[in-house]
Amino acid sequence: MLKRSDVVKLVRVVDETREIEISCDECFERLDSYAETELSGLDARTAMPLVGDHLEKCADCRSNFEGLLIALRGT
Ligand SMILES: [Zn+2]
Repeated sequence: MLKRSDVVKLVRVVDETREIEISCDECFERLDSYAETELSGLDARTAMPLVGDHLEKCADCRSNFEGLLIALRGT
């Protein structure tokens, strides 16, 4: 049986091999689902690695994402 860390590693390898990067528009379209996944306690980065990668590289989208998390959590 695979450990969780192994699964994450596999997903990362597959993702890097594909060499697909999404644009800010594509990232934005998926940001809602990404934030909801994150808030539901799942590993959003594993579920949606392309969005996770983009957020890591793109400060604009990351600040959008952080704002969205705050909005979804409520105050
Ligand atoms: Zn971006």
